[in-house]
This record gives sequence, C-alpha cells and structure tokens, in this order.
Amino acid sequence: MTSHHMTPDEFRRHGHALVDWIADYRERVETFPVLSKAKPGELRRALPASPPLRGEPFDAMLADVERLILPGVTHWQSPSFFAYFPSNSSFPAVLGELLSAGLGVQGMIWATSPACTELETHVLDWLVDMLGLPEGFKSSTDGGGVIQDTASSSALCAVLAARERATGFASNRDGARQDLVAYTSTQTHSSIAKAAKIAGIGESNLRLIEVDETFAMRPEALERQIQADREAGRIPFFVCATLGTTSSTAVDPVGAIGSICEEHDLWLHVDAAMLGPAALCPELRFLNDGLEHADSYCFNPHKWMFTTFDCDCFYVKNRKELIETLTILPEYLKNEATASGAVIDYRDWHIPLGRRFRALKLWFVIRHYGVEGLTHHIRRHVELARQFAEWVTLDERFELAAPAPFNLVCFRHKGGDGVTEALMQQLNDSGKLYLTHTKLDGRYAIRMSIGQTETEEKHVRAAWEQITALATSV
Ligand SMILES: *Cc1c(COP(=O)(O)O)cnc(C)c1O
Repeated sequence: MTSHHMTPDEFRRHGHALVDWIADYRERVETFPVLSKAKPGELRRALPASPPLRGEPFDAMLADVERLILPGVTHWQSPSFFAYFPSNSSFPAVLGELLSAGLGVQGMIWATSPACTELETHVLDWLVDMLGLPEGFKSSTDGGGVIQDTASSSALCAVLAARERATGFASNRDGARQDLVAYTSTQTHSSIAKAAKIAGIGESNLRLIEVDETFAMRPEALERQIQADREAGRIPFFVCATLGTTSSTAVDPVGAIGSICEEHDLWLHVDAAMLGPAALCPELRFLNDGLEHADSYCFNPHKWMFTTFDCDCFYVKNRKELIETLTILPEYLKNEATASGAVIDYRDWHIPLGRRFRALKLWFVIRHYGVEGLTHHIRRHVELARQFAEWVTLDERFELAAPAPFNLVCFRHKGGDGVTEALMQQLNDSGKLYLTHTKLDGRYAIRMSIGQTETEEKHVRAAWEQITALATSV
C-alpha cells in the first residue's frame, strides 16, 4: 500500500529537476515570444475534463508544464518585457519562496512562528534606512512596517485606518457614514477607487484632483476642493499622493500636499508601489521629499526590487491607529506573548488573518545583492530609460508624451493615435518584445517600462531598432 505522499527522497529528486528546469527556463527565456500567443480556451481544451483518480508521476507533470503551460505564459521575466511595469524576480527571491513553502509556517501571530514576525520587522526597519524613509516608520518608534500582499491591500488598510481616525472609531462600530470625502489625483492608480468602494466611502466621494503639465497633482486644486467640501458640510478625511503614477511615473508634490493634510487633519497615504526603490540611489532620493508628512506609505519590492510577487511593504506613522482599526482577538488566539504586549501580532496589520513567511525572500534578496547591488541595477535601469528617451527625442518621427526621469518612457508617433497604436500592435505581434499603452492628455502613448532583472542595454537598443524599423512602414 502506498501512503500517497511524495517521500523526502522523491522530493529531493523532483526538486532538483524543477530547479534545473527553472534555471534552464531563465536561460532560454529570450527564445519565446514575450507575449503569449495562446487563444482563449486553448489550454482548457488541452486539459483532461476530470481530475486523475490515481496519482501521477511528477515527471508527467513537468512534461505538461513544458508542453501545455509554457505556450500560455507571457514571459514577464524576459529582458524584453517592457509592458505595464516590472514584476521582476530573481533567483534568491525564488529560493526564498521555496524555503517559505518548505517551512510552511502560518505567521498570523508572533507565537505561531516568532521568526516569521521578527525577521519581517527587522527587514522592514532595514528598508527604512536603505530608502531614506522617515525614521518614524521604524518599529522602535510609534510607527512600523508590515508586508502586505499588494499595494491595493495597503491602500485599503490606509483608507480604513483613516476612516476610523476621522470618526473616532465609530464607523467600525456602526458602519461607514456617507459624508466622508477622500482625495487623489486624476492619474492615481485604480486601487484607490477600489479601496474607497470596499471601505464604504463610495466612489462618488472620491475626488479626482486635476494635475499639472507633468501629470502631478495640483496642491492648490486640492486645497480648493477640500474647502468646498467643508463648506458643503462634508468631512474630508483622506488623501492619496502617488510617487510614480502608473501612466507616466508622475510624482505628486508630497510636501505641499502634506502641509494641506496637516492643516485640515487628513490622513496622507503615499503610494510609491513601483517607483519606491528609486530612492536606493542617493541622486534619486529627492523622490521622498516631504514624506515625513505621510501617515502611511507603501512600495512593492515585487515590482522593481527583484522580489518575486507578492511582496508589498506598508509603513504607518502610528501603528496604534492601524491596529485599533483592524484588531480582533477571538478566544482561540489568546496567548501569553500577546497579552504581555511585548510582541507584534501582524494579524492586526492587514485584512487576512493568516500570513506566509514572505520576509524570507526579501531577506535573501537584500543579502544576496547587498544595498550596493540593488542600487546598481536600479540606477542602470534609469540610465537605460534616459538613453531611450534621448533616442526618441532625436528622432523627428517621435515625441515624448511625458517627462521620463525614472524607468518609464512614454512616447508616441507624431502621425497620431492610429499610427502609434498600429506600430505597437506590430511590435507586439513580432514576439520580440512586449509594450503596453496609456492615454495622456487624451492621446495614445506607448509605455516603455525598463526594469526587468536581466534587461541590459542590448535589449533596449534592439527594442529601439525594431521600433524605428517598423515606424518606416506604418
Ligand atoms: C502597480 C501599482 C499599484 C497596484 O499594485 P498591486 O500591488 O498590484 O496592488 C498601485 N499603485 C501604483 C502607483 C502602482 O504602480
């Protein structure tokens, strides 16, 4: 009789095979079309209609990964993936994921795995120093940091904590009220609208503040709107500023916005999901100017800091407000360490109760690269983006659609929206690279996002060569 389990010896063998497969995959990733050519339903049709009654050998699964799964994969780890935003990974991060799965701990409270909590607190404190974030985000102060799954969850936690602070925790007890108003710019990420919906604020109570010619929020417009809402008897309570908007990496003036928030006692959340790691480079640290005003802040190591999805770092200035908003202590979770107040129980810092040991991958990444290695790669990506932007500027057929001071270049063909869109379509059909678009000032723009782990000058150069070659024929 079989136990049905995979034995440690079998795991060793298949594990080695899988690690080899992943290493080979990364070596040959450039041989695949970057954007999957799969048609809707193709994979479903190739899979058996029912699950296997008897267990199957692992080799058969790995063979199906190659045969069935790979054709349906868009290769986010390709050095010619320039679409959306980087979701870069690295081998140390993959190993951290594997270890996390291998240990299989559930870190909902300190007592359920002390290392899971303490490593997280420690690494998040490191990151405050690495990025030059305000000291008030460190765990030794009233603030602190926690790993969330995504920036969307961080935004929701920020809105909830802000709602409770503004209502003296009455919303938690009695339900959300209808007169609260939140503010963000027209360029903000969609996750802020989602947070407003989930938190019971209502999307119609989220004001989208106009932006200037760099697509950054206009603080005077924010101030005016807050005044108008006050006069109408509403209760302004929350502002989200963005460092690195999704469309064009615009940077909202956090200092000026922060002063307004302080004057009117509003919660300021700063969303730096993609761009946060730019602050590793001293010459780009101006990004964090004014951040001392923020009540909360988040960035995603799973975007542009070589850490496999999912990993978002969320910081608050006053952890009591966050914890009081989210805390819940059923009988079955009561324990001595919690009662003593000497430990952090991260279950009170986010929506889910359960939590994976995500700090391992972040710890591996930081220790493998060192601050120096991480800074080197971020700086290199920014240099490549500047080089690309220069090529765009020098070619009379093209123009920049927005300033490009970081890792994203938005550009368009001067022939107009139709030509620009057709060009992007042809480039993506070629399979050699993958680009996506946005609209800026109502006009179509191609986004060239440079931040994949293995992206080098030759990939950026090849992309530009293809763009210019196809531009001749569109
Ligand atoms: C990507 C992004 C988000 C959403 O990130 P998730 O972690 O996927 O929720 C939010 N804000 C900004 C500015 C982003 O770039």
